[in-house]
Amino acid sequence: MKPRDFRRLSSALKELTPHQRQILIDRLQPAGQSSAPGQLVETRMTEKPSCPHCAGERVSRWGFANGLQRYRCNTCRATFNALTHTPLAGLRHKAKWIDYAKQLVEGSSIRKSAAAVGIHPNTAFRWRHRFLRLPNGQQASSLAGIAEADETYFLESQKGRRQGLSRAPRQRGGKAGKRGLSEEQVPVLICRDRTGNTADFVLEKADQAHIGAVLKPLLASDVILCTDSAKSLATVAKEMGITHRPVNLTAGQRVVAGVYHVQNVNAYDSRLKEWMRRFHGVATRYLGNYLGWRRLIERHDRNISPADFLRATLGIDRVQHAMGT
Ligand SMILES: [Zn+2]
Repeated sequence: MKPRDFRRLSSALKELTPHQRQILIDRLQPAGQSSAPGQLVETRMTEKPSCPHCAGERVSRWGFANGLQRYRCNTCRATFNALTHTPLAGLRHKAKWIDYAKQLVEGSSIRKSAAAVGIHPNTAFRWRHRFLRLPNGQQASSLAGIAEADETYFLESQKGRRQGLSRAPRQRGGKAGKRGLSEEQVPVLICRDRTGNTADFVLEKADQAHIGAVLKPLLASDVILCTDSAKSLATVAKEMGITHRPVNLTAGQRVVAGVYHVQNVNAYDSRLKEWMRRFHGVATRYLGNYLGWRRLIERHDRNISPADFLRATLGIDRVQHAMGT
């Protein structure tokens, strides 16, 4: 770059918002080296200060503690830091969080991530589910245009539960005795519109009542719903009065009228299943965390940086900001 252009660039840096600064800091990091987690954590307050107790937006700096800026709310007078009321509050070894987020980006096992980051496997397990708590709940709240929905099933697993086992343990990650819907399968409904907005739901049962309960708030009245002609989805669409375009896959039909198909949601489901295979069966009570983990990776076009993963765990997910969801 010419010296004159560089001076111009350099003086323009003064106008950056804290958020824009952070984006540049990330881009300037040499590959493999991460930005300081502490600094990243602080952006949660510097970007949009808000009291975690009363949501008041007028806050003052109030000294430092545990390596973090403390704040005091001008409204309710409570003090807090950028981690208060986040899932990462109270976790130690902040300096290792970016490295740990990198393990989540890569989908490493508990054992492997513990070794890579230098923490105990129990800590790696606890961190995994703390880090996934917010991504679990971060999903599209409404779908527009052409939306595709598909029911899929995960093997029921009580892995990780020490008490209340209702039957003899099965070889982990094994196959269910019966195909299709059985007591051993947990139904999940995946919905995705053509702009990539995605929502998924772990259902108690894949019947009309349960599917209706999650689809009604999600689908706008002018949505065109494409399904693989599953009966309960058709009934719900009719009940909601929305346009339904079933695609009869078993009869070899793939696309109706050139645009109505379920290829996006099916491709998403295949990527999800393929990626989940590495975990050798996940405990059903954590299934939502894994679905959220995958949604987060997909929301970043399957190319999420560790810093962006950590941001999502703190509720400062950039892509979400951009999408306004
Ligand atoms: Zn307050």
